[in-house]
Amino acid sequence: MRRLSLFSCISFSILIASPSLAKKADSEVIEEKSTEQAKQAEPVEPEGNPPKEAKAKPPKEDKKPEPMGPGIKPTTPEIPGTPWRVHDGTRPQPVAVKPAGALTTPLPEDAKVLFDGSSTDAWLSAKTGEPCPWLNKDGVLVAKAHSILSKQEFGDVQVHLEWRIPSGRKVNGQGGGNSGIFLMRLYEVQILQSHGNQTYPDGTAGAVYGQTPPLVNATLPQGEWQSYDIVFHAPHFNDDGSLKAPATVTALHNGIVVQSETEIMGPTVYRKLASYPKNLPEKAPLLLQWHGDPVEFRNIWVRDLK
Ligand code: MG
Repeated sequence: MRRLSLFSCISFSILIASPSLAKKADSEVIEEKSTEQAKQAEPVEPEGNPPKEAKAKPPKEDKKPEPMGPGIKPTTPEIPGTPWRVHDGTRPQPVAVKPAGALTTPLPEDAKVLFDGSSTDAWLSAKTGEPCPWLNKDGVLVAKAHSILSKQEFGDVQVHLEWRIPSGRKVNGQGGGNSGIFLMRLYEVQILQSHGNQTYPDGTAGAVYGQTPPLVNATLPQGEWQSYDIVFHAPHFNDDGSLKAPATVTALHNGIVVQSETEIMGPTVYRKLASYPKNLPEKAPLLLQWHGDPVEFRNIWVRDLK
């Protein structure tokens, strides 16, 4: 339990802080997380943007991670304007809606292709800056080892991507089928195998992770391709660096609206209340999250909205 907590909590920190883990064989990393996740209903999120407190600290021996999941009221901060806490398992579960299937739209003329099955050249390792460590397996991008960043940077952007959790994989809560797309490498739209798999609602597929659950649960069964179509507007800041207008996101999961001009409270954080630091850049890469699961991707393209 403690080992997983350490691994997960520092998983983004190690992007810049822990070269020792980088030396682990890929199979070791996957095996370590898979085995531990199978033991737990709610392994922790996320590997997203590196927090400022990048140095990993050893866990306190006498402090076990608080359990989280459906029906559990955690001791996390309350989300302003709501009666709910961050990762609140007593929050109503998003109603499941059966979608017709993934949207696989043809490529628009002005789209920038980030993955079309031909190569992983549009991405690099978020941990080392080296070439993309994810696999191109028969035209499918397979998550592996650590998170990846797009080489290009974006502000306001439309994103299309398709993802799949391999069939036959054990999925439980946040474990087994977890990734995410981070707009500007900071704001996560959760990717999770949420068909028949409940977790705390703000961790469901299509959630603005840790903030806003999806309007409905539009997740298809495991092993099926699923689509996200996202419209993201970057936050704006005043001259003194303070927040002028928050980022917003609209998202369709398999063609069904799951976020509608949702205001984002700040960069994604785990078990904490999100807020904006000062002086964030106007543009930043997209990040695809490595959460220990070999999530598959295809047909990733974007359009600049400015
Ligand atoms: Mg995730």
